[in-house]
Amino acid sequence: MLKPSKSGTILTTEFKCKICGAPVRFNVDDPRTYESKTSHSSYFGMQLTTVRVSHETETERHYNAIVVDHEGIFRGYRDAYSEPLGSTGDEMYQSLAVHPNQESGLTHHKYLKLLILIDRQRFWVQTYLCPEEFRPTELARLVMERVEEAEKVYEQAQDHIVLTLADMEVQIWVSNDYVVFASVKDSRITPAIKGLATGLLDDHGSSYTNQRAVKAALRGLNDNPELDPEALHRLITDSMIFTVVTTPYQERISKIVERVGARIPVAKTILRPLLMGQSSLIDLIEDGHWSEIKEIFEMVDFINRRGLLG
Ligand SMILES: [Zn+2]
Repeated sequence: MLKPSKSGTILTTEFKCKICGAPVRFNVDDPRTYESKTSHSSYFGMQLTTVRVSHETETERHYNAIVVDHEGIFRGYRDAYSEPLGSTGDEMYQSLAVHPNQESGLTHHKYLKLLILIDRQRFWVQTYLCPEEFRPTELARLVMERVEEAEKVYEQAQDHIVLTLADMEVQIWVSNDYVVFASVKDSRITPAIKGLATGLLDDHGSSYTNQRAVKAALRGLNDNPELDPEALHRLITDSMIFTVVTTPYQERISKIVERVGARIPVAKTILRPLLMGQSSLIDLIEDGHWSEIKEIFEMVDFINRRGLLG
């Protein structure tokens, strides 16, 4: 399992569905075998691609987004979710339904009141942060009314709208496919939320299930509302964080940890388990490093720039 098999020059990747455990196969070079794919920047000598693959059971369709390297080798799960078979998007926003994601969002945050994503094409609502007193689907419907109103009124599409809903100031970020809206408790968090929200919009179809990365970001922002917006954007959009590394340069690891750690202190704690293939970056971030994501990306860039791992 988890190894590509060569049939001619075409690589087939096999992995286990994260939801039901069934083996799923696809070929990264054959678009008929997957739903979508996104390429990423190189990471420690690997060219990573996120591939969204689906398969059907009797009653459901399961979607897995997984990361593969340039040889088609499985490198990690990004997310997974299931959808009942036969469900079709109803073109009325009344039919908005809370997306049946595998993990539920947060209900409380020190600096942020709400963070919700709407899939405009499929009429889904994904709640990342929503206290129990709110009805996410009602909020989403109201937000969409106002977004559509703005789209009718203005010649130029607006990608950021601020408005008041009930007694709340709501910030909205808009793209063709998605709308993200948030309400803050403390304005210091606003630049960071912009980084996060635009990351969700730029994530092309992966956002609504990207609970793990968003949760890590929200935990970091609970400790420090002024985390770097660009690092947050990257946390949401780049699948390198889900990737398990294997390096042919095992004997160099101690030297690399020492060298990088002298420049970027976080490397002293996290680089060894990362290079040994014991943890992915998201595992390490969740393990208490969520407020150091900027330094973690600096570490990755430092290693990539100097070609320390090929
Ligand atoms: Zn499955």
